[in-house]
Amino acid sequence: MAEERSPLENAIRRLIAIAGPMSIAEYMRLCLTHPQYGYYVTRDPLGAHGDFVTAPEVSQMFGELIGVWMVAVWQQMGSPENVRVVELGPGRGTLMSDALRAAKVAADFYAAAVVHLVEISPKLQQVQQQRLESLGVPILWHSVLAEIPSGPTIIIANEFVDALPVHQAIKQADGWHERVVEIAPSGELAIGIARDPLPHFEATLPRGLRQSPVGSVYEWRSDTVALEIGRRVRTDGAALIIDYGHAWYGLGETLQAVTGHSFTDPLRAPGEADLTAHVDFAALAQSAQIIGGRIHGPISQRDLLRGLGIDQRAAALKARAPERAAEIDQALARLTATGPRGMGELFKALAIADPKLGELPAFET
Ligand code: SAH
Repeated sequence: MAEERSPLENAIRRLIAIAGPMSIAEYMRLCLTHPQYGYYVTRDPLGAHGDFVTAPEVSQMFGELIGVWMVAVWQQMGSPENVRVVELGPGRGTLMSDALRAAKVAADFYAAAVVHLVEISPKLQQVQQQRLESLGVPILWHSVLAEIPSGPTIIIANEFVDALPVHQAIKQADGWHERVVEIAPSGELAIGIARDPLPHFEATLPRGLRQSPVGSVYEWRSDTVALEIGRRVRTDGAALIIDYGHAWYGLGETLQAVTGHSFTDPLRAPGEADLTAHVDFAALAQSAQIIGGRIHGPISQRDLLRGLGIDQRAAALKARAPERAAEIDQALARLTATGPRGMGELFKALAIADPKLGELPAFET
């Protein structure tokens, strides 16, 4: 017997029936952020009991080191007496809470900071509020980055860009066609190929990918987040983007669905699983650079955390709480290890900054 369809699947099927097949990006957008049934709108997906675990949830060290980075960057900016500390997609507020706690030693930074959180999920906004209200820093919530007033700004985004919708195109004999979600003859949702090729698509691809063989898949985000970040920080600020992905252009399909810490079919139970795709750091860097930001990195998460002193931080924590030594070592390994199980190499950090700031902590060449 067929499984019962999720309410979002019914909504998506109605949309396809009316308007025809939808792009992968539109499907992803609906799955994650549909105002009623979207994955992020209806739940707190993080942590051991949720669907996935992120670096700030692995250890307090992650957020603390980012706090250290923020204070150093603020000093490089000339210690402005007002600074917008922006986080995109703050999840449970863990990173910001650990970062601000670590930044408290710099009392003038603490007094200058106004925190702006860009969060689409009302559920997670609540969790963030509970988590952060005792810190004594003003906090404002926004649904998009564009709402935040301009001025000196530090932007942090961990595992945010991977959740922004991706388009996919597949090379056919007559050119590149967008991949779409359609209803197959069997009645199930299926991946299809748009009938007409995308006009002039090949000319927009990075040169090395232009003569790809038939069947190649190329993914891209049309989201303007990198442009918007670059525009905000190019004259007075810096941004740190950490995510999993590739440092150079490539082909291949990376869209994945995760539920209960396991992979599942992205077309199954829309709205019930987390959908993400690799971040193309080269594309992000290019957009941010076009608009005048200086690009730093990308470097591996391992190099970022080592550069900010994670080994010393772990040693200090262990000295203070010897009974937690094994747990701290395990977290350190998970955050910095290379190979498929560690986050140290798969995750990368890219900074975008006002060119006047010069080298940034952990990105020095
Ligand atoms: N940075 C956190 C959470 C990562 S999960 C951590 O590292 O633990 C992705 C986060 O981005 C969630 O908070 C989710 O609700 C938010 N999010 C996803 N898409 C969004 C969008 N389009 N606009 C604003 N927030 C979004």
